[in-house]
Amino acid sequence: MEHTLLTARLTRSVLISEKTKHLEFDIEEVSSFDFVAGQFISVREPRGDKFVTRAYSIASPPRGNNTFDLCLNRVDEGFMSNFLCDREIGETARFHGPHGLFVLKPEVEDLILVATGTGVAPFRSMVQDIFGKDSSGQSRHGGRHVWLVYGTRFAEDVYYLDEFETLAAEQPNFHYTATLSRPPEDWSRGRGYVQEHIRKIVGERKDMHVYICGLNEMVSSVRSMLIEECGWEKKRVIYERYD
Ligand SMILES: Cc1cc2nc3c(=O)[nH]c(=O)nc-3n(C[C@H](O)[C@H](O)[C@H](O)COP(=O)(O)OP(=O)(O)OC[C@H]3O[C@@H](n4cnc5c(N)ncnc54)[C@H](O)[C@@H]3O)c2cc1C
Repeated sequence: MEHTLLTARLTRSVLISEKTKHLEFDIEEVSSFDFVAGQFISVREPRGDKFVTRAYSIASPPRGNNTFDLCLNRVDEGFMSNFLCDREIGETARFHGPHGLFVLKPEVEDLILVATGTGVAPFRSMVQDIFGKDSSGQSRHGGRHVWLVYGTRFAEDVYYLDEFETLAAEQPNFHYTATLSRPPEDWSRGRGYVQEHIRKIVGERKDMHVYICGLNEMVSSVRSMLIEECGWEKKRVIYERYD
């Protein structure tokens, strides 16, 4: 199937760790880009005489305009991640989308969102969407509690820390844990792997939805912990793998 290609123009680029950028775009052809929080776009660019297509989760909530953000990690020797991270303000990339089924289910239940690395991108979109205000000024969380558990090795790779901590301070229903497997001595937040923190949040509960995003090794390990070890129903554990 031929997809309609759109043109994303870079409007802002922020280095958020040694190899990772937060990128903001607007789209030339449309005034409103409709997607559901958690979906991705497919960037398509020529490489030699062929085209390369790579998926990137949208890291911003639907805003009712033609803008979106990405959170992008430079992969060593990788084509598209370096192409996008090397874009200058005003330069463009072609893409199609939105795509994907990694979106919230309609039931308003408590959620645990689990990410490593740039796997946090779709959760930035979901969290900002859930805790944003609707047209009558009400927050859309509907009484549910949301835990975001973010794991990485080093403190410098915790993306959007201030943003999530500020939201957690303002919103009693939003709980944020950034956990490091190699924490420095003065690290006052979580320590260890995401699994240990999920176990504590879950306790004996099996009535929440867990969304997991990142590289396959972490995704598979958290899934099997919940389904095989804790006896959760498969349909309650929803995931997106980047590799
Ligand atoms: C649904 C979906 C959403 C995604 N969202 C994001 C996102 O929001 N941000 C983001 O940074 N990436 C995301 N990815 C990963 C992204 O699509 C690419 O795989 C990644 O950017 C590497 O592409 P590349 O062209 O730079 O590297 P390639 O040229 O494809 O690969 C170069 C080398 O890197 C290895 N490699 C490929 N992918 C990865 C990876 N993800 N991590 C480490 N090594 C890898 C390959 O095995 C190869 O050896 C997503 C993937 C999927 C499937």
